[in-house]
Parts: sequence; C-alpha cells; structure tokens
Amino acid sequence: MTDYPSALLEKAVNEFSRLPGVGRKTALRFCLHLLKLPPAESEELGQTIIRLRTGIRQCEVCHNLSDSSRCSICNDRRRDTSVVCIVESIRDVLAIENTTQFRGVYHVLGGIISPMEGIGPTDLSLPQLEERAAKSTINEFILALPATLEGDTTSYYIYRKLSAVSSATFSTIARGIAVGDELEYTDEITLGRSILNRTPYHSR
Ligand SMILES: [Zn+2]
Repeated sequence: MTDYPSALLEKAVNEFSRLPGVGRKTALRFCLHLLKLPPAESEELGQTIIRLRTGIRQCEVCHNLSDSSRCSICNDRRRDTSVVCIVESIRDVLAIENTTQFRGVYHVLGGIISPMEGIGPTDLSLPQLEERAAKSTINEFILALPATLEGDTTSYYIYRKLSAVSSATFSTIARGIAVGDELEYTDEITLGRSILNRTPYHSR
C-alpha cells in the first residue's frame, strides 16, 4: 500500500493516523516534523504521551479527569458544592467551564443510558451519584444531558433515583439549540446563558 523507505517511519505513520481526524498525509507530516526536531523535544512529547496515560485518573468525587484523587474543581473552596451539574462526558465539563458562568460542581456520568448500545446504569457512574446524593448536602441537581431520547431517559432515571434519597431540587439547562445537538458543539454564549436561565425539571 505504501512505499516508505523505513519500517519505523511506516509504523509511526500508522500509529498517528489512528488518531481522530488524522489521515495518513497528516500523519506523515507529523512524523517528518518530529524527525526535524531536536531529540530532546521529541522525547519530551513521547514522555508526555506516556504520562498522560499513566498519570491521569478519575476524580473520586465527580469522575472528572484529575492528576490527584480529587480534581481541581472539587478542590476549589470557592466552588458551591451544593449545586451539582450532571453531564455526560468530560468534554461537557470543559465546555461549561469555558462559559465561566457556573460556580457549582459536576458529576460526570461517562456516557448515557442506551439500551440499543447495551449501556445500563451500572456501566456509568450512576451508583456513585446516588451515593453522593445520599451522603452530601446538595440543594440542586442540574440535568445537563443531551436533548435526545437517551438523554431524556437518563435524566428521568436520575430524577427518580435521586429524588428518593435527596431533598434537592432538579433543574434542566434551557436549550437555545435544536434537539439532538450536543453540549460541546454549542457556542459559549448560548451555553452560558442556558446554564444561568435553567428551569425546573419536569418529568413526563
Ligand atoms: Zn472532581
């Protein structure tokens, strides 16, 4: 298929082209660029990739990415731990943090309930969320899940489970976006506004 002059180069191109959005042409550009760098710089890149995989773990409280047992958001004393925003993924945390409009804390589910894909509550951090709801003083849960059938199902499941163990109120973020759009693709201003203008959650 290819006629690279070096098997090592070919292996590197193969590895890079497995990354999302990277084709073989771009992968080759990366490799040729790396070959031009001083050895120390490309070594640093390699070490960073290794440390990324071995050093990062999940926050024991919110399941966000973290370098220690608790993430920087859970460790921040200025954050309001009585308001918990429930999101599908770490990318949603990043999107909401970018709006700078939210001062509460998060709970990252790691997915949403999807019977079609065989994803049930125990495949997600839902048992941990129930435990957190029962043990901590939480005044409000914000359901910030995708406006899809799976997202709605997950929101309803969470509402039922948590309202049994917690007296917190439930709200949902106001969406100025079409059904099916995902949080991470929403622009910052719209997302920021939708968090500020959240509305009480009504189960159907
Ligand atoms: Zn955390």
